[in-house]
Amino acid sequence: MATKIAIVGVGKIAIDQHIPALMASPDWELAATVSRNTVVDGIENFTEIEDMLLARPDIPVVSLCIPPVPRFAYAKAVIAAGRHIMLEKPPGATLSEVQILEDLAARAGVCMFTTWHSREAASVAAAKDWLAGRTLRNLQINWKEDVRRWHPNQDWIWLAGGMGVFDPGINALSILTEILPDPVHLSAADLFFPENRATPIAAALTFSHPHGADVTADFDWRQEGDQTWEISATTDAGTMKLTAGGATLHIDGIEAVIDTTAPRGEYPRLYAHMAQLVRTGQSDVDLRPMSLVLDAFALGTRRVVSAFHD
Ligand code: NAP
Repeated sequence: MATKIAIVGVGKIAIDQHIPALMASPDWELAATVSRNTVVDGIENFTEIEDMLLARPDIPVVSLCIPPVPRFAYAKAVIAAGRHIMLEKPPGATLSEVQILEDLAARAGVCMFTTWHSREAASVAAAKDWLAGRTLRNLQINWKEDVRRWHPNQDWIWLAGGMGVFDPGINALSILTEILPDPVHLSAADLFFPENRATPIAAALTFSHPHGADVTADFDWRQEGDQTWEISATTDAGTMKLTAGGATLHIDGIEAVIDTTAPRGEYPRLYAHMAQLVRTGQSDVDLRPMSLVLDAFALGTRRVVSAFHD
């Protein structure tokens, strides 16, 4: 039987991904939305989260699709009402607030899933399998896109807590932390802030690898033309390249065949996993991508670049 779920925040990602994934899944019934501005045809909407939680005790799961800064208060209310919770990436604005949510969820006996949609890209699991058992020599992330194309007039990404270029960059770091057999930590960073903005438009990161591999990342929101979401690695036994945000994988220059039996699409896979967590009463909270981003803010050298105007 389908489990009822409510979506909170009917914006870009809810409309592009969450709602279509839920509508197509036999596991789920989209039973309500919480939106201050948008009504989904045929679905009951509430403007306040508290009203939805009071009026719809029949909805056991809530998926938060709002930006990170306002998320904590919503998440706390959801958990206090005894509902399972799914959080868009990044799971919050700070690490400590997400750790508090994890603790509250555990005490309330509800499941919490901090989603990382890019980990569900079609070739990420194959890249992880291939890297296991090989000795990494170097790895380079190039995550370069046009902010005007992907985030037009989205003010929150430029405000404190919005993370700037790390909003997409954290997707690359979610893949990195998933596929590497050994954990890396940040050792240096340059962060490029437009003179009129509170968050960076570009970042260059260097990581320390336990066996001395060179691991770096370049994030840039000023890329026009072709967009680049790539991770390339050289090992003692060949090379690999993840492209298209993890959708395609080349091993030694030859495209790898992906598993076509798995659910297709990042968001259908996230919701399949959430259904499994709810069935088994488990949580899935991984804060490693967020730790790397927040370490970059802690350790990075601030460089000021030209003003950015939408
Ligand atoms: P968005 O369209 O700018 O905002 C999503 C919705 O959140 C808004 O439509 C609004 O919903 C609600 N909202 C915005 N500010 C709020 C506030 N201060 N208080 C309460 N609600 C607020 O953002 P988005 O692109 O969907 O991104 C949302 C989250 O998904 C972010 O964490 C982002 O990193 C992640 N994400 C985005 C993408 C993407 O391609 N855009 C991809 C993957 C993940 P209502 O008007 O309905 O109230």
